[in-house]
Amino acid sequence: MKFATLASCFERLEATSSRNEMIALLARLLAGASPDEIVIVCYFVLGEIGPGYSEVNLGIGDRTTAAAIALAAGTDPASVEAAAQELGDYGDVAVRLIETPAGGPLSVADVHRGLSEIARAAGPGSIEEKKSGLARLLAAATPPERRYLSRLAAGEMRLGVGDMTLLDALAEAFLGSKAGRPSLEHAYNISSDIGHVARTLREEGLAGVQAISVSLHRPIRPMLTQRVARISEILERIGSPVIAVEEKYDGERIQAHKDGDDVTLFSRRLTDVTHQYPDIVRHVRHCVMADTAILDGEAVAFDHETGTYLPFQTLMRRRRKYRVREVAGEIPATYRAFDLLYANGESYLSRSYPDRRARLEEVLGRDKRISPADRIVTGDTDGITEFYLACIERGLEGVVCKSCAQDSFYRAGAREWQWIKWKRDYAPGISDTLDLVIVGANAGRGRRAGTYGSVLCAAYNHEEDLFQTVCGMGTGFSDVDLSDLPRRLAGARKDRQPARVMVNPQAAPDFWFAPARVVEVLGLEITESPVHTCNWDPERRRGLALRFPRFVRWRDEKSPEQATTAAEIAAIFRRQREV
Ligand code: ATP
Repeated sequence: MKFATLASCFERLEATSSRNEMIALLARLLAGASPDEIVIVCYFVLGEIGPGYSEVNLGIGDRTTAAAIALAAGTDPASVEAAAQELGDYGDVAVRLIETPAGGPLSVADVHRGLSEIARAAGPGSIEEKKSGLARLLAAATPPERRYLSRLAAGEMRLGVGDMTLLDALAEAFLGSKAGRPSLEHAYNISSDIGHVARTLREEGLAGVQAISVSLHRPIRPMLTQRVARISEILERIGSPVIAVEEKYDGERIQAHKDGDDVTLFSRRLTDVTHQYPDIVRHVRHCVMADTAILDGEAVAFDHETGTYLPFQTLMRRRRKYRVREVAGEIPATYRAFDLLYANGESYLSRSYPDRRARLEEVLGRDKRISPADRIVTGDTDGITEFYLACIERGLEGVVCKSCAQDSFYRAGAREWQWIKWKRDYAPGISDTLDLVIVGANAGRGRRAGTYGSVLCAAYNHEEDLFQTVCGMGTGFSDVDLSDLPRRLAGARKDRQPARVMVNPQAAPDFWFAPARVVEVLGLEITESPVHTCNWDPERRRGLALRFPRFVRWRDEKSPEQATTAAEIAAIFRRQREV
């Protein structure tokens, strides 16, 4: 497949505001790809060159991309930076500045090979190697190809295609109906590699996809929690006579894969964070009593002197490239495991929670360096409340309640009623913050001139694969947050309403952003609204909105599709009315 075919499909994808058209365009593209090509096409569509979790990280960054464009254009990096300031996008900069005719033709495989070599370059001189490698590709490319090459390299592809849209397109291309779509999603949830799912589907059909199973060093998409408005609803919602109530840690979710002495750690976004936690790697290697295992749990910063857990922000100081071991010594992390997904060659995903927990305790023994989450098992609300209050007293952020029913399987990637979190109340009405995606902003006036005055926030509607607005937010920002807004949002700027973003004309912002940045938002309550499109009811012309939204913090570790869903907001709204 020619890279030009891909580039022209990308142009059409960017031009459409219809999700169905997006799926049709992608389906046609995928149907025309060979098994080797389809893998690459899937990664490229998502702006990556390998599965999200792999170490195949381009690692180029803005400066090297700018230097490569300068080299290909025969100009200096300062001119490229100036054009980038003006155009806000390296793709457009490359098209404008590189005037030489294309030296190609380039195939999809050529580009992937070139970018993979760039990604592999490491050590002294590697920046130079990356720069000249990218410049060579740019020189060979046509103008539209240059646009997408530069965006891929700068990590700013943002076609507005999410993984669920891509799965829909795969189903349309190879199955012709939606019947097999759940199997595709399941395979993706347990392998986290859409390229692998696509290739298997292309080569072996649906039966092949259904045979995809858990494997070591390939992360499983984490199971997520639901929320309720009142603690008294938890038991009924979960629906099993007894439930487990576990401590909820405020750290970083980590999935640990042990393969003999070889240990890999994945973050909640499924990136490989092994290098960040040398202490947890050691603990997993020495304390997990199974040759192979996959554990789900939380890395938490722990003060051994006072015996208390430290806040999330303290742990985040360990997110760094350099001085990792030194800072690990200053801020030791402990691993609280709350699930076992695989042990000694066997998947535990289809075992009940009580079975998985029993096996987890066997595998971990009594070593303090990694311990199973503390918990109680109870059948009444008073029991939950007492344990919850004790957790709060110990400085934890709340509890996670879990079904003990026979069918309490580990549902990869799902947010269902089997797991319910209950956290310290932030505000009356809403018992938790929301994680929303920024899709627009209004220009700031007065003191806020030069930055944005407010941002337009959306929830993710999973059923429709759309981002629907919930509120405009202008409070809660510190001065530093405010002045930093344009920089934070620059990469996502769009000159028109992006596909998959649903906004009513009354709420149309001055500036549009592709769904990319997630913020944590505190609010008073959910109300009906004629303006916001969350759970939009076309007959009543009403959606749902968050009142008194306040910015809490950036949630960089979340992808837009991991934001609070429209269904969750609808559930909060319903429950508020019941209170
Ligand atoms: P929050 O922002 O409330 O931490 P989240 O949006 O990141 O939540 P949720 O699925 O809503 O994700 O909450 C579950 C998160 O809580 C998990 O991702 C995990 O990191 C953390 N957690 C801490 N302790 C536990 C536990 N015992 N069981 C399950 N998850 C736990």
